[in-house]
Amino acid sequence: MIEVKNITKSYGKTQAVRGISFSIKDGECFGLLGPNGAGKSTTINMLSMLFPPNAGQITIGGIDVAKANGEVKSMLGIVPQEIALYEKFTAWENILFWGSIYGVKGKALNDKAEQLLKWVGLFDRRKDLVKDYSGGMKRRINIACALLHSPKVLLLDEPTVGVDPQSRNLIFELIQQLNKEGMTIIYTTHYMEEAEKLCDRIGIIDNGLIIAQGTLDELKKQSEVNDMIIVDCTQTPDEKMLAEKLKTTVSVHENRLSILSEDSKKDLTRIVTTCTDAGYEITRIDIQKANLESVFLKMTGKQLRD
Ligand code: ADP
Repeated sequence: MIEVKNITKSYGKTQAVRGISFSIKDGECFGLLGPNGAGKSTTINMLSMLFPPNAGQITIGGIDVAKANGEVKSMLGIVPQEIALYEKFTAWENILFWGSIYGVKGKALNDKAEQLLKWVGLFDRRKDLVKDYSGGMKRRINIACALLHSPKVLLLDEPTVGVDPQSRNLIFELIQQLNKEGMTIIYTTHYMEEAEKLCDRIGIIDNGLIIAQGTLDELKKQSEVNDMIIVDCTQTPDEKMLAEKLKTTVSVHENRLSILSEDSKKDLTRIVTTCTDAGYEITRIDIQKANLESVFLKMTGKQLRD
């Protein structure tokens, strides 16, 4: 369905995307997971045909995007990171406006707008001005707008940023439902829980490159991580000293230590002794099975939120 081959994009001297390749099958939910500034929005904006890559090729539905006219655009539903709604208009007016942009008109537009507003749970609020909506409600309208022309592919760029937990769960349910009905989804996030929950396959992106991609199980296997031990201390530990002493990947964020371990049962005593010998007072220890956070740490030496 979607083939991305070695695309690059620079803004002046900043190389935002430095040669990214991936492919997405029909009906798949593909996640791009990476920290802020990794190049997620730049990648998704190129897929959305907002601007072309400097080099490389994108094909969607077998069509080279660089040579395409309207036929690829009509396949895509786009939910950009910045909410694209007119605050001084009602939700209904916004929906009709976006429908006209996508070339949906008349009764077809009215019927679809009603169906989508009901689906996102905001039909009763359709006459309210968007400026009075919460972040989560605006995002739900934004998703409805992207679906008015019944696209085959939905691209969502960090759709849960600035969204309350209730809307967040609803957005997950909506995306899962669309995906079950066969829609291909591309979803960017810096929250590993979201990628784990929603995505069939995940591309881990850092510093303009995809450093690993696959299913969650494949990624865990590739990284050879078994456990991550989280240690909270009363002061900020010395990352370099602990990494040298423990001979493994260690990352410090404020007073929290994240330590990769092949076998936490074996390593735990040694970790506690090393920390206490260094004069750190431990307030909490948590052992997690390998997850996307530990995979990211293993591959980059840093935490997703860094
Ligand atoms: P992400 O979506 O993962 O947070 P972005 O694609 O937004 O990452 O940004 C990748 C890099 O490109 C960052 O270093 C960012 O500062 C830079 N960048 C993004 N957009 C622009 C722009 N319009 N002008 C200049 N630099 C940009």
